[in-house]
Amino acid sequence: MNSECLFCRIIAGELPSTVVHETETTFAFRDLHPQARTHILIVPRAHFTDAVDLAKGQPELLTDITLAAGQIAQQEGLAEPGYRLVFNTGPAAGQTVFHVHMHLLGGEQLGHFGAP
Ligand code: AMP
Ligand code: ZN
Repeated sequence: MNSECLFCRIIAGELPSTVVHETETTFAFRDLHPQARTHILIVPRAHFTDAVDLAKGQPELLTDITLAAGQIAQQEGLAEPGYRLVFNTGPAAGQTVFHVHMHLLGGEQLGHFGAP
């Protein structure tokens, strides 16, 4: 746990969140500023900076958060229409919280992405 990290503090219950799914190794909660009708953040409980840092440090946790995303998609009724999974990596991609998080976006037809 990194006490200066927003998401470590959310996982520890020191800051509030709307939890949607939890496992021994993962934690998922609703994004405070949703960019789609459904917008959920899925994180490993362990602190890693970004997806590549996670893959280098504890690759099985990448699988864990991906499987959690699949379960959440089922739970939210998104498995059939589909959904988007995104890792913003670094400031140019808009990463603002440096505890790796997978964005799960869906609940509506999503547009193309990549533009500012
Ligand atoms: P990123 O820009 O990829 O680093 O994503 C960080 C996400 O965290 C943004 O979509 C924010 O809206 C979201 N966020 C920031 N603070 C909170 C919070 N306290 N609870 C839930 N989501 C948050
Ligand atoms: Zn953290």
